[in-house]
Amino acid sequence: MACCCLLICSCQKPNVIVIIPEPVECTPKSGNFTIDNETYLCFENLGAKTGDFSKIIHDTYRQTFKMKPNLGDKSSSHRNYILFEINKKEDKEIGKEGYTLTVKRSHIIAKANTTAGLFYAFQTIRQMAYLDQLTDSKEFHIPCAKITDHPRFAYRGAHLDVSRHFFDVNFVKRYIDLMAAYKLNKFHWHLTDDHGWRIQIDQYPGLTTIGAWRPERTSWDTLHPVQPDEPATYGGYYTKAQIRDIIEYAAARHIDIIPEIEIPGHCSAILATYPQYACDDYPYTVAVGPYWPPKAILCAGNDDVITFYKNVLKEVAELFPYPLIHIGGDEAFNDNWQVCPKCQQRIQDKKLADETALQQWMMNEMEQYLKQFGKTAIMWDDIVSDDMVNQCDVMCWQSPDVAKTAAKHGNDVILCPTSHCYFNYYQGDPEKEPLAMTGLVTLEKAYSFDPMPDGLTEAQAKHILGGQCNLWTEFINTPEQAEYMLLPRLCALSECVWTPLDKKDFKNFSKRLSFHRQYLIKSGYHCHE
Ligand SMILES: [Zn+2]
Repeated sequence: MACCCLLICSCQKPNVIVIIPEPVECTPKSGNFTIDNETYLCFENLGAKTGDFSKIIHDTYRQTFKMKPNLGDKSSSHRNYILFEINKKEDKEIGKEGYTLTVKRSHIIAKANTTAGLFYAFQTIRQMAYLDQLTDSKEFHIPCAKITDHPRFAYRGAHLDVSRHFFDVNFVKRYIDLMAAYKLNKFHWHLTDDHGWRIQIDQYPGLTTIGAWRPERTSWDTLHPVQPDEPATYGGYYTKAQIRDIIEYAAARHIDIIPEIEIPGHCSAILATYPQYACDDYPYTVAVGPYWPPKAILCAGNDDVITFYKNVLKEVAELFPYPLIHIGGDEAFNDNWQVCPKCQQRIQDKKLADETALQQWMMNEMEQYLKQFGKTAIMWDDIVSDDMVNQCDVMCWQSPDVAKTAAKHGNDVILCPTSHCYFNYYQGDPEKEPLAMTGLVTLEKAYSFDPMPDGLTEAQAKHILGGQCNLWTEFINTPEQAEYMLLPRLCALSECVWTPLDKKDFKNFSKRLSFHRQYLIKSGYHCHE
């Protein structure tokens, strides 16, 4: 029997295996392994990584099973043990992040080529014990099984907008915990936008003393513009020390962080702080509430602006270890550029066709600049055209057709289309749901997401790195609401980016999800029905 859902085996106790994302292969066997006070954790062949890896497993084990694990090695004759072992010879089938898991009555053996694979094996073990975790059992039964598992895509992401509303370090870590539980590995941190600048930049302290704060608005349903002398009481930002702490926390859970610095639009928070970087004399403020279209754009003809962005990106590149940095590029309305003498002069000097080419030039300047730090730029797909000059990675929020154009152009692509991946959209009847962004992405719709567009050649398809969900927070002003919008759609996304296409089945997923939903709610998460 190859399917791992809801097996009722011949022993007395039903064996229920409810893993999300569904593994590549899972063969249930009869019987159970029991986690109790006598269980030992053993680590083999991890070399220098033993310390860090055993710490995260110990910590998570204690949290999950409410007991302290014993330490041992497999040569000891322990009554039961869980062994984590790095393969001495590479197992090519499972790749960098896959694992094999053998659960027998007396022991569990998790094997992988890397600690990431072993970490995911442990997430699978935790989920296999969900049934007992729901009943406050003191013993946890892991159904016997043989599992081989590895992800379909290398990029499995989740995004969080902390500009429209600010979320503290504790919530960011809680978000990372959720990602780790569902084997997601890229956290896209949207740190700057019109509604607040959220990252400490030493060279420009005004970005966080002024740009991180705005008048408070309890409702984003109607725009009430900032009034003269209205106090800026809402906001916050992350210090570099806090960011380093979060980077370390995420790394222990095999999650890379991709920071986003928006260029050249979505910049009201910058212009509220440094009005000299605008094309005009408009009195910009850190934005409040809804408005459209965003007028704010930094002057592409001003050399000080180019220097400003490079100085900011230098600090960001030095802070974040992962080689990808997102530099925005979306929704840059260039009306101001059309009438700005400096911008027009730049177009003339650089022999550019128009304002669209001016943005390509500006983004390309930043892309080239980041290379000296060993970084690759990601941009939103607004930059994509048949004759695009940018060699950046592209994040496609619009349509799979744009993703295809980028992949054919040779750019690496991450998909997060509004149609399936915008978890700030309603997930149910708007009449019954809390206020959300207009649009509907039901759980079933989210589950039907396939990051791979049709009609690409094998070579072009290699440019599709994976997918992610986006959580824009105009209408999400508390951690509880953020979780409610994420869950359970995040579970659906995890299966879209991990599980082989031919193993996806919404009916089967829904059955497994019913257990996960109960577990998440019992664990204190806010979860949509
Ligand atoms: Zn200008």
